[in-house]
Amino acid sequence: SRFFTLTDYPTGLPSRELFSLASKKLPDLGEGEVRIRNHWLSVDPYMRGRMTSMRSSYIAPFELGQPMEGGAIGEVIETNDSRLNVGDTVSHMGGWRDIAQISATGVTPLPDINVPEQAYLGILGMPGMTAWTGLNLIAEFKRGDNVLVSAASGAVGSLAVQLAKAKGCHVVGIAGAANKLAWLESLGVEPVSYRDRSAQELSDAIKLASPNGIDVYFENVGGACLEAALSQINEGARIAVCGMIDSYNAATPPPGPRNLSQLVVRKAKMQGFIVADHWSNYRQFLDEVAPQVAKGDLSYKETIQEGLESTPDAFLALFEGGNTGKMLVKLTD
Ligand code: NDP
Repeated sequence: SRFFTLTDYPTGLPSRELFSLASKKLPDLGEGEVRIRNHWLSVDPYMRGRMTSMRSSYIAPFELGQPMEGGAIGEVIETNDSRLNVGDTVSHMGGWRDIAQISATGVTPLPDINVPEQAYLGILGMPGMTAWTGLNLIAEFKRGDNVLVSAASGAVGSLAVQLAKAKGCHVVGIAGAANKLAWLESLGVEPVSYRDRSAQELSDAIKLASPNGIDVYFENVGGACLEAALSQINEGARIAVCGMIDSYNAATPPPGPRNLSQLVVRKAKMQGFIVADHWSNYRQFLDEVAPQVAKGDLSYKETIQEGLESTPDAFLALFEGGNTGKMLVKLTD
C-alpha cells in the first residue's frame, strides 16, 4: 500500500514538503477487516483542521507519520466481513492511499443508483449532505427566500444554490473566477465576484444582485463575505455557518466582522453546524436528491487530478480556487 503521511503540523498554508508518500506491505487481513482498491480520493477543506496538534471538538488531528485519512471510493478486493463481497464498490474513510485495509464497520456499499461512483464523494456524499443540512435543518429555507451562498461554485455551494433555486428562492452566489460565475449564471443564480473587492464593494454588489435583501446566508467563507452579507440581511434572517475557508490557513485568527451588531438590529440568527451530527438524515437526503441527480435535474462539476502523487496538490488547490465543483483525485493502477 502507498499512502501519504503528514511529517509536521503546518503554520499558515501547508507547504507541499509536509506531505510524504510512504509505502508498506500490508499484513494478512485481520478479523472483521476489508481490503479496498481505491478508485477515487476526496480532498476537502475540513482536512486543514486536522493538520494541527490542537484537538478540535469534533475530529482528531492527523497523527504525524501515520497514514492520513479521508473520504474515498473503491472496490473490495478481499474481505473478512460477510456483509461485503469482493467486487463491491464502497465508500469509506481510508483515503490518501491506493490500497486501504480497514475495519469493515466504517465501509458502506454504494446504493444501486445510476450515477457515477465518484458522485458519492460530492453531490451525493458528504458535501451534498452538508448543503442539504445547512439549508433545511439550520437555515430552514422556504419558498420565496432571498438566498446568498459563498464559495457557491464549490462542492457544497453548487448544490446549495441549486436546492434553493428548486425551492423557488432568489439566489445569489459568490465565487472567484469568471468560468465559475458563468456556470452559476447558467444555473439561474445571480453571480457575484468577490475578487479585488472590499467588504463594502462586495456588499454593494450583493445589493445589486438581490435588491430585496438576504433572508438566508449559507456561509462557506467568512471574512469580507460575512461582513458584506451581514450588511444586507433582512429582519429575521438565518445564517447557516458551514465553514470559513478564508481563515483556515491564518497563522493568527483574523478579527471578526465589524458589523456583527446587524444580528441584533435585524433580529437575525446565526448558527454553525457539523454535518456528521445530522447523518441520521442521510437516507432522506439521498431519497430526495439522488433521483434528481440521476435525471440530470441537478448538475454537478468535478475537477479531477490524476494519480495518488497529486493528492497534496489537489488539497492545496482548494485554497486557491483551483476547483470548480468537487475536487477529486482519480487513481489508476
Ligand atoms: P469547495 O469545493 O467550495 O472548495 C473551496 C472553494 O472555496 C475554492 O474553490 C474557492 O472558490 C473558495 N475559496 C477558497 N479560499 C477562499 C477565500 N479565501 N475567500 C473566498 N473563497 C475562497 O469546498 P467544499 O464545498 O468542500 O467546502 C465548502 C465549505 O464548506 C468549506 O468552508 C468547508 O470547510 C465547509 N464544510 C463544512 C462542513 C460542515 O460539516 N460544517 C462539511 C463540508 C464542508 P473561489 O474560486 O470561488 O474562490
